[in-house]
Amino acid sequence: MRKSFLKTLERVSTYDFVTHAKKIKNKTFSDTDKTIVDDIVFLLKSTNLDERFLLYKKAAQIRDTQCGKRMVLRGLLEISSYCNNSCYYCGLNRKNQKAQRYKLSAQQILDCTDTIWQAGIKTVVMQSGEDAMPAQELASIIKEIKSRYDMAITLSVGERSQKDYECWKNAGADRYLLRIESSDPALYARLHADRTVQTRIRCLDNLQELGYQTGSGFMVGVPGQTLNHIAKDIIFIAGRNFDMVGIGPFIPHPQTPFKDAKTGDITLTMNAEAIIRLTNKNAWLPATTAVGSLEKDYRVDVLKAGANVIMPNFSPTNVRKKYAIYPGKKCIQESIENYKTEMNDIADKAGLFLDYSKADSLKEAYYKKI
Ligand code: SF4
Repeated sequence: MRKSFLKTLERVSTYDFVTHAKKIKNKTFSDTDKTIVDDIVFLLKSTNLDERFLLYKKAAQIRDTQCGKRMVLRGLLEISSYCNNSCYYCGLNRKNQKAQRYKLSAQQILDCTDTIWQAGIKTVVMQSGEDAMPAQELASIIKEIKSRYDMAITLSVGERSQKDYECWKNAGADRYLLRIESSDPALYARLHADRTVQTRIRCLDNLQELGYQTGSGFMVGVPGQTLNHIAKDIIFIAGRNFDMVGIGPFIPHPQTPFKDAKTGDITLTMNAEAIIRLTNKNAWLPATTAVGSLEKDYRVDVLKAGANVIMPNFSPTNVRKKYAIYPGKKCIQESIENYKTEMNDIADKAGLFLDYSKADSLKEAYYKKI
C-alpha cells in the first residue's frame, strides 16, 4: 500500500466540494483547488487490491455512519419507451428503427404501482424516454397515486420545461432523476445529438429550485471519456449536493453509433462509486441495474463499495425487454414473486438490512423545508 494512497484518500474524503463549486461560480478558483482533480484521478486509477479494499471499506463506513447500515428499495416502472431524443449510447434513441415502442396506460401504471405498494415498497420510480407526454396527463396519474397511497414518487422522464416540472411537483411528485452524463460541454456534445450540457444544467437548477429531491449521475466508460472527465463529473456532482447519485458502466447497444465501443470497466466503476460515497456522504446511491447486467451481477460488490439502494423492476414483464437502453438488462428475468427472496439475499451478502421505508433525502436542506 502506497503512503500517498492513504493521504489522498483522506484529502478527498475531507474536501469541501460545495465551497469548491462556489469558487468556480465566483471565479475565485485557484491552482491549489485544481489538485483535487489529480487526487480523484489517482484514486480512480488504483488497481492494487489492498488499496481498493481500503477505498471500499472507507466508503462503506461513511455510508453506515451517515445513512445507516441499510439497503433501501425503490420500485421501478418503465412507463414509455418512446423517445424524441437521440443520445448516441442509447437503444431507445429515436433513430433506432428496430426499437420496440410502448406506452403504459394510466390504468396499467396504477396497477403496477399497486403491486409495488403490496410488495411493501414505498417509492415508485416512473421512468421513460423523452416521449413528450402531456404534463397534465402525468400530473393526473401522480395525483391519483398520491390519493391512494402514502408513497414517494420519483420521476425520471428527461429534460422538460420548468413549467412542466412545476406542474408535476404541485401534483405531488417528490423526486426527480436526471443524469448529467458529462459536465464537460465537448464530451456532452459527443454523446448527445442536438443537445447541450447548459440545457441539462438548467433543468437540474429548475428541479433543485422547485424543491425536488434531485438525483444525477453518469456512465463510466463512454467513448471519449477520460479519467479527468470522470473526476470532474464527480466534483460537479458533489458540488451540487444532490440527494441521489446513480452511476453505472457504459454497455454498448448494437443499434447505436457506439455499437463497437468497449463496455465500461467494472473496477473503474466501483472505484468511482466509492469516491462518490466519499464525496456525497449522505446521498442515496443505487447499485444500478447496469452493474447487475455485466458478465456477472456486481450489485453486491457495489453495495460493499458504498451504495445503498436497489431498484427492483415492476414494469409488466411483457414490456421489460422493450425498454432496451442497453442490451442484456438483468431485470428482464427477475420475477416479482421472487423479488423478496432475491432482495433479502442481496442485502445479506452486502451485510446490510433491508429498509422498506420511503427513505427521503437525508440532506439538511430537505428537513428545513418540511
Ligand atoms: S438516454 Fe433517455 S433521452 Fe436519451 S435516447 Fe435514451 S431514453 Fe431517450
